[in-house]
Amino acid sequence: MLKNKTAVVTGGTRGIGFSIVKTFLDNGANVVVCGSRQETVDKALAQLSAYEGRVMGACPDLCDPQAVGAAFAAAKEKFGGVDILVNNAGVSSRTSLYDYTVEEFGKILDLNVKALFVCAQAAARIMKEQGGGVILNTSSMVSEYGQPSGSAYPTTKFAVNGFTKSLARELAKDQIRVNAVAPGVTATDMVAALPKEMVDRISAGIPLGRVGQPEDVANAFLYLASDQASYVTGTVLKVDGAAMT
Ligand code: NAD
Repeated sequence: MLKNKTAVVTGGTRGIGFSIVKTFLDNGANVVVCGSRQETVDKALAQLSAYEGRVMGACPDLCDPQAVGAAFAAAKEKFGGVDILVNNAGVSSRTSLYDYTVEEFGKILDLNVKALFVCAQAAARIMKEQGGGVILNTSSMVSEYGQPSGSAYPTTKFAVNGFTKSLARELAKDQIRVNAVAPGVTATDMVAALPKEMVDRISAGIPLGRVGQPEDVANAFLYLASDQASYVTGTVLKVDGAAMT
């Protein structure tokens, strides 16, 4: 579904991002795996040795336009362009309003929102020149319901939806489609870090009767990245088993 396409996936070293990377590679794409540290990028690349020649790593500071620009330039140099950006890196939070510091709240906003802007700007510049592309963002089910603590996290995911819908309208004239995927509870490290009672409570309210797997989410990204979704832009696709928590 993605033959001859090149994708940049942030937060691609583990969890949902790693599953997106594998799914895209299995569907013929070249992929740039972005992570926060060289060590984790190298670890991910070691697991992807079967795809040698179609995969490369990068670990730019996602809020630094120069570092991100350099990573995109390297991708373009190696693969001839960038067709798909997946803004997936994100950090969760459980801190109460009373305990948040401005620094902690700001750090979550930086990675979950500011980095999306920086990466989208770098990607769109290349895509516009190429005649089109696809930008995909990872939202969350909390972008609809909020959550009872860690308010910075849902705040950022509401912002992801707004950014997605606005960019879709702004970039349509450049043939750049912009969509988001909103996963429900998905079996990754982020979920493993949540208190068990919370995961159980959430899982009990999922009509499909199970927590999502990273592959469930990756397949939604695959569809939206592909030409199968050529008339789909500005949407937030829920992949949450109809959870309403
Ligand atoms: P994860 O913690 O397993 O992976 C997070 C990824 O983000 C890693 O690859 C990590 O390298 C990267 N990352 C973290 N901090 C970074 C930084 N400062 N700079 C660059 N990269 C950084 O998380 P996950 O569960 O796979 O989550 C991926 C995305 O899915 C996030 O945007 C998250 O909000 C969203 N999401 C997850 C769930 C879930 O249940 N797991 C549900 C809804 C949405």
